Amino acid sequence: MTAPIVRFAPSPTGLLHVGNIRAALFNWLYARRHGGRFILRLDDTDRQRSKAEYETAIERDLAWLGLAWDAKERQSDRLVHYDEARDRLVASGRLYPCFETPEELEFKRKRLLAQGRPPVYDRAALRLDETARQKLEAEGRRPHWRFKLMPEEVRWDDLVRGPQHVDEASQSDPVLVRADGSYLYSFTSVVDDIAFGITHVIRGEDHVTNTGAQIQMFRALGGAVPVFAHLPLLVDAAGGGLSKRTGSLSIGDLRERGIEALAIDALLARLGTADPVEPVASLAPLIATVDFARVGRAAARFSEEELAQLSARTLHMLPFEAVRDRLGSDVEESLWLAVRGNLSTLADVAAWAAVLHGSIAPVIEDAAFLRAAAEMLPPEPWTEQSWKAWTAAVSAATGRKGRALFHPLRLALTARETGPEMAKLLPLMGRTRVAARLQGQAA
Ligand code: GLU
Repeated sequence: MTAPIVRFAPSPTGLLHVGNIRAALFNWLYARRHGGRFILRLDDTDRQRSKAEYETAIERDLAWLGLAWDAKERQSDRLVHYDEARDRLVASGRLYPCFETPEELEFKRKRLLAQGRPPVYDRAALRLDETARQKLEAEGRRPHWRFKLMPEEVRWDDLVRGPQHVDEASQSDPVLVRADGSYLYSFTSVVDDIAFGITHVIRGEDHVTNTGAQIQMFRALGGAVPVFAHLPLLVDAAGGGLSKRTGSLSIGDLRERGIEALAIDALLARLGTADPVEPVASLAPLIATVDFARVGRAAARFSEEELAQLSARTLHMLPFEAVRDRLGSDVEESLWLAVRGNLSTLADVAAWAAVLHGSIAPVIEDAAFLRAAAEMLPPEPWTEQSWKAWTAAVSAATGRKGRALFHPLRLALTARETGPEMAKLLPLMGRTRVAARLQGQAA
């Protein structure tokens, strides 16, 4: 197959959330798997709601998730191309001016519904003659413009949903140009998809309803119709939609809560697919398995708890090189390997670094026992076997076993009830620190 060219096309009118990142991720993975190109297209024709700060946030989130783009485009830079395409559609009779006010349209809609008929636009504007049109314009009415749909069944083979068909004869002609001259997304998107040679439109299922009309627009503008892949939407535990505006699941929030980028990638790439959701140490395994045929059609259930757990499991498997740049210089590889299995978030490392290299206030359960244990500390150098040798000697001398033996030692040395294996921690603490803590001294 020829290399795909795909695009992720967010509107910079809000923050990215897990729902739209799923579309970004599938576009990116698909491009990488098949040696294609991934374009970031900012759909910023809505000048009121588009904001530079959202654009910055979108780029930051994508970069953080590892989804680098090969090219970036802004719709606001491309208005001349939309004007040109609009003029071509007008010239070929596929775009026609309409003068109805929103109130008039609403009235027509209600009347049709009351008659038990589908509320399809009646194309009254097509029947206006020149005089009637001039009269309306003289009244100061500015037209909006509708795309004249061909009354045909449009078919496409959706990579996720399988064969699809929609009868355009039963649809309203969509408005492509507003009365103020601004364009609607469904039109500018088609113009750009043609201009950039987009081969695959990968997006959320909420756009399925645009697809039939868009296919007709591709044809009317002489463009190649891309392949479509519509991903099922994400739902929450209760089955409700994840709203873009809740903010609680914005990528920025998840980052601040310490969720690993790779966990977000792994969860969203695999949720609702035939492949297991499991932690990954890089994007490579996700690239290797991305396949629309393996995406289920049912809505995918997103759970923050599952994400938090996957994030922790991701940390547990990450090699030192993968996190080195994000750790303080006091955290070396041996410390990372000793504690990573106990982390919920990367920030937890700091507390373990203090236990191993810094100073903590030991928790003393039984001072006499700990003093006795201190006297039996073996000489350095220590290895992972030192803990076993030492506690065996302490056990032989004191008669203690199991929890009575280990619990006071762990509490004195780490000030915590649980944590990584003591055998790994002991050599990293060093004898001076261990001896001091066993005496109850902060060290
Ligand atoms: N700007 C549109 C959106 O954010 C893009 C949809 C598409 O991918 O065609 O929903």
